[in-house]
Order: sequence, then structure tokens, then C-alpha cells
Amino acid sequence: MTLSRREFLLHSGALTGVTLLAGRRAWAVEDRADVIVVGAGLSGLQAAWVLEQKGFKVLVLEGQDRVGGRVLTFADVQGVPEAGGNNIYGDYRRLMEVATRVAVPLEDQVPRLSKHAKFTLVLDGKPVSRSEWTDSPRNPFPPALREMMPWQYVPLVTSQENPLASTAGWYEAKNAPLDVSMRDFLRQQGATDPMIELAYDTIPTYGLNARDISALMMAYVSAFTAAQKSTRPVILQARGGNQKLPLAMAAQLRQPVRFKQTVRSIEAEATGAGVTVRTNDGARYSARAVVCAVPFTTLRRIDLRPDLAGMQARAVKSLPYQPIHQVALQVSRPFWEVDDLEPSMWTDSPIGRVSAIYHEARDDQVSSLLVSAFGPGARHLDRLGKEDAARYVVAQVEQMRPAAKGTLQVIGQHSWEQDPFAGGAWAYFNPGTVTKFLPAMFQPRGRVHFCGEHTSVSARGMEGAIESGERAASAVAQQLA
Ligand SMILES: Cc1cc2nc3c(=O)[nH]c(=O)nc-3n(C[C@H](O)[C@H](O)[C@H](O)COP(=O)(O)OP(=O)(O)OC[C@H]3O[C@@H](n4cnc5c(N)ncnc54)[C@H](O)[C@@H]3O)c2cc1C
Repeated sequence: MTLSRREFLLHSGALTGVTLLAGRRAWAVEDRADVIVVGAGLSGLQAAWVLEQKGFKVLVLEGQDRVGGRVLTFADVQGVPEAGGNNIYGDYRRLMEVATRVAVPLEDQVPRLSKHAKFTLVLDGKPVSRSEWTDSPRNPFPPALREMMPWQYVPLVTSQENPLASTAGWYEAKNAPLDVSMRDFLRQQGATDPMIELAYDTIPTYGLNARDISALMMAYVSAFTAAQKSTRPVILQARGGNQKLPLAMAAQLRQPVRFKQTVRSIEAEATGAGVTVRTNDGARYSARAVVCAVPFTTLRRIDLRPDLAGMQARAVKSLPYQPIHQVALQVSRPFWEVDDLEPSMWTDSPIGRVSAIYHEARDDQVSSLLVSAFGPGARHLDRLGKEDAARYVVAQVEQMRPAAKGTLQVIGQHSWEQDPFAGGAWAYFNPGTVTKFLPAMFQPRGRVHFCGEHTSVSARGMEGAIESGERAASAVAQQLA
């Protein structure tokens, strides 16, 4: 991916004068901002923009040397696969509006992807064809479902048997009876433990396994996904990679993002009319209000005074985040033409899923492969350490597909749980915690407000991040009016 000179400078922090000394001098504590936004992910950038539009002086403090947080593109890999935020669905109205505002074109991936929707099933290191699967001793499904591939079962049951009558207020106490484990829900639908172990626990995209995740959350995810598809069946991606979106959003702010400013404390001033923010390098900032646009994994390391209380404090301390380890592979020869199997794979190995990226002029040309390990698989790779994990992924793919020997090179790698500014790919809820935690999670504490995907209630992922940034910005504007 080529970045424009301005994007490059913004990305590296050079343009913004973030060179820290100069930055601090310009923002000595006597320079009061109206609002400090902590975190330059989608939620923080959107909150900052909305507040600037309302006439407030806003300063965004970002711990890393780049914007975007969990939106990150493997920019050096052919086909620019996403290391983070990936699919923009048909009803992501807020994000689409942002893309139009910052002039980043979105392209529909469906025409290309729908031609390559198939995955090769790989069990115990060996590909299993669809006809072999029906009679395989590893197939745990009852006779009527034996043709179903393992990854199809849970989405089907959750959509057909969705217990949520409406998504309005889905997280409220009225739905506490649905806040059981996904395992209990699937058992109620007739699934056996071997079915759950294969269909949920092999590649858990939410939680570590079906016992670890709230069925209420999954019911909401399923209803949200269905609504997205029925509004407009598209899967959009920013041209050149989704990272272009936060880069362009940051470039539109009046006050440049301040990089390498990891916030360590946020303290209400004695007057009650202001908040002091301190960063790890000793800088001190002051504002009338603060928006914390960071995941709870990092918020729990920030010293908040006064501290949070009750369910909000419990949620900040204990909300879990999804372990995901991504590895992007460049392929020198199309080995799938040799073994005549689909390049994409769904495996029961710790490496999880292998997705072929199609981003070339010719629709059938594979740009690269993206390996996504989830839950315990991601932790397995994390424990190996970066380089050994890369070698392990290549060795696993070569074992599954001998024709791939010598063709693979690791070009990109990112562990979201090991990323100190993320602590995981997305927040999820353990059974019994949605209705207790979520209503408390987005409440302001005095002049300190909270946003981020985990606090969104009517959208998820990138759209949820934007929704939450807008909610926090309106609450701040009301408070400061
Ligand atoms: C692998 C993966 C796949 C995904 N796929 C999709 C998808 O297909 N569709 C979808 O809609 N969403 C997807 N998402 C989710 C989406 O990317 C996130 O929900 C969204 O980007 C979160 O934005 P945010 O602003 O809430 O948080 P973040 O992006 O995490 O932003 C928080 C920012 O705060 C900074 N920060 C943290 N702590 C501090 C501190 N103490 N001081 C200063 N700065 C700090 C961080 O560096 C970061 O820049 C995916 C995410 C991942 C990781």
C-alpha cells in the first residue's frame, strides 16, 4: 500500500510535531483544552470530530505512534489483508457517512468473495472432502445434518432459534434469563457435547469455548448480522485497506493527535469543574471533561480518581477480550492448483482458519493467505513467541498441504492479546454478565466519559465504535453547555 506523504507523516507522528518535547511545551498544563480524548481509534477520533464541530477545543492523546487502534492493515502484504477491523457491512450507516466525509472510497468485496466462499476442511492435519465428511467417524452430527460442515452449525442454530424477540434493549435485565452459556443454549437445541466441541470450541470467535460465552450476546450478534445482510448484502472495505479511514479522520481534526502519550492517571480537580490527565512520560494535561476511548484492558491500568464503583468497576476489571493471532503469508506458487483443493481452510489445528485474500485485477488470483488463530489456538501461538509461532504456522500449512512446501513466507503478524494497547480483538461477555455489566459500562463518572466498541448497544465492531464515540460526544457537549 502506498501512503501519501501527509498520511505517512501523520502515521509516523512527524507532521504533528509530536516530537515529544516540542509537543509538551506547546501543551503545558496552563493550556487547557475543553475536552481530552484518550485513544485515537475509531471511537476516539469520531468523538473528537463531533466535539470539534460543536466548537470545543479538543486534544486527542494516543499511546502508540499511529492512529486506528484495532483497525490495522497489513500494508506490506499483497492484497492488503486486514490485521484488525475487516468487514464493513450493509447497515454500517455511521461508518459509511464517515468514509464519505473523509473521502475514502469503500469497495464491495462480495462479487469477488462469493466466487471463493468455500473452505477445505482439515482435521488431524489431513484435508477431508465434503463426500468423505458425510461418513467420517469424526462427524458428530445426527443423520439429518451429516452433510453440514462444522462451521455452518452454530450460525444456523443461533439464527433459526434466536431467542431475542427484539434487539431493542437486548442487554437489559428483562433478558437476564437468556444470559446463560452458549453451551447450555446449544444443549437446549439438541446439540451433544461432541457437536459443540467441534462446531463451537474448535475455532471460537467469541470466548475461549462455548462455556465461556453468553448466549445472550451471541443471540444479539446473530440478530445484528442478519439485519446487516438484509439491509444491503455487501461487505465493504476501504480502497487500499481500512487503515485509510482512521488516518483520514485524524487528518481532518483541527488539533493534531498527540502520539506516544500513554495515559496513566485521570483525576477530577478539586473544584469539580476540570480533570487532570497524566501520561507515562510525565506530561500533564488539563480539560473540562475527558472521553476515555480505550478498551477496558488498558482502562484498568489507568488510575482513575475518584475510582469507579459497583458494576462499572467490576466490568472494567474483568471484561474479557478475544485472543486472536493473525499471520499473513505470501505464496510464491499457487499450490492449490497442484493439490486441487480450495486454498482457504477451516482446521482443528491451533492455527484455526486460513483465508485466501483475493484482491487482484483477475478475480481468481490469490493475493496472499491470512491465518487467524482464535481463543486457545491464539494463546498457543502467543506462548511460542513471535518467530517460533511464524515457523509453526508455516510448518502446519505445509503438513496439511504438502504441495505448499517451500512456497510460504510470513510477511505480517499481529497478536491482539499481546498488543499492550488492545489486550484482545474485541470485548465479549461471560455467561450472566451482559445484563449486569453493559448497562453500567457506558455511564459517565462525573466529567469522565467512556466510549469504544465495548460500550456500544445498537451496533458492533467498527460501527459500534463510531456509535459510542457519538454518544459520548453528545453527553460531553450537554455537560459542558
Ligand atoms: C482481528 C480483528 C478483526 C475485526 N473484524 C471486524 C470486522 O470484520 N468488522 C467490524 O466491524 N469490526 C471488526 N473488528 C473490531 C473493530 O476493529 C473494533 O471494534 C474497533 O476498531 C474498535 O475501535 P475503538 O475505538 O473502540 O478501540 P481501539 O481501536 O482499540 O482504539 C483505542 C485506542 O486507544 C489507544 N490507547 C489504549 N490505551 C491507551 C492509553 N492508556 N493512553 C493512550 N492511548 C491508549 C490505543 O492505542 C488505540 O489507538 C475486528 C477487530 C480485530 C482485532
